[in-house]
Amino acid sequence: SAKKFGGHRFAFYDPALQHELDLRLQLESDIITAIKEKQFVAYFQPQLDCQGNIIAAEALIRWIHPIKGIISPYYFIPVAEQSGLIDQLQSSVLFDACMLIKTLEQTQQLHDSFCVAINISACQFITHSLYNNIVSIVDAFGISPTRFKLEITESILLDDMAENIAQMQQLKAKGFRFSIDDFGTGYSSLAYIHTYPVDELKIDKSFIDKIHEGNRGSAIVSTIISLAHNLGFNVIAEGVETAEQAKTLTQLNITGMQGYYMAYPMPAAEFISWLKQQRNS
Ligand code: C2E
Ligand code: MG
Ligand code: MG
Ligand code: MG
Repeated sequence: SAKKFGGHRFAFYDPALQHELDLRLQLESDIITAIKEKQFVAYFQPQLDCQGNIIAAEALIRWIHPIKGIISPYYFIPVAEQSGLIDQLQSSVLFDACMLIKTLEQTQQLHDSFCVAINISACQFITHSLYNNIVSIVDAFGISPTRFKLEITESILLDDMAENIAQMQQLKAKGFRFSIDDFGTGYSSLAYIHTYPVDELKIDKSFIDKIHEGNRGSAIVSTIISLAHNLGFNVIAEGVETAEQAKTLTQLNITGMQGYYMAYPMPAAEFISWLKQQRNS
């Protein structure tokens, strides 16, 4: 408080804090404009199995700014979450994902088990906006919910666990599946992991990076893979960047791999031509 610093008047004005607040408000209003101008688009990054078949794609949001260029989600997702704009961004990602699936289904380029991974923010569980937001769009497109896997983080399984799990069960009853993103970085108890309504673990990139740094690096990854297999979960590696990492993960019998080594996230049109090219090679 101001008193602590020896003043008799209360300091309500903190220039640094005010500046931060101004920036946030500015960003918030820029996001609102960008939504109206349709500047948010989903990119798609493939997930391949050990034989090189495409099993899924992760939808990753990008802000295509007319002046600043492509803006990373690390910059705007937190503000979108705090300001309640995340549902609208989520809808636009889901819309793009549905368009992609429809296009692929119509051109018969789609394996039955192909699905799109959608990142879900923890705050969408708090506001209970998740179910209606997702189901209305997917139903409107007439796409089977089994075409989606929803990526959540471990924190959702910890805070208000019973409440969040009830919301997950509701979506699972519709046919949606769940994947735990950045697995290993949170604090979910391994003793409880089998009780969570999830279908897949996604090993965080930080563990994939260390896979060749001695025995410990590979021990963690191989332990997570065996754990997943023993529990009947799929297991995906994220951030695979080298041929050596892909080779080791194949030897460990991973379900799927995603990373710059296989392909970068791409706009939908580019992803479709990439698929065609893969099929022809
Ligand atoms: P994430 O879900 O863990 O996504 C993985 C991130 O790693 C993506 O960053 C992806 O582009 C990047 N990546 C993929 N392969 C490699 C690789 O080989 N090396 C390296 N260094 N990076 C790789 P991106 O697209 O910038 O997304 C960052 C985060 O923003 C995501 O992390 C996710 O938490 C969040 N995000 C992205 N799209 C959405 C969305 O539609 N909704 C929500 N709520 N969050 C999103
Ligand atoms: Mg993700
Ligand atoms: Mg991840
Ligand atoms: Mg991550």
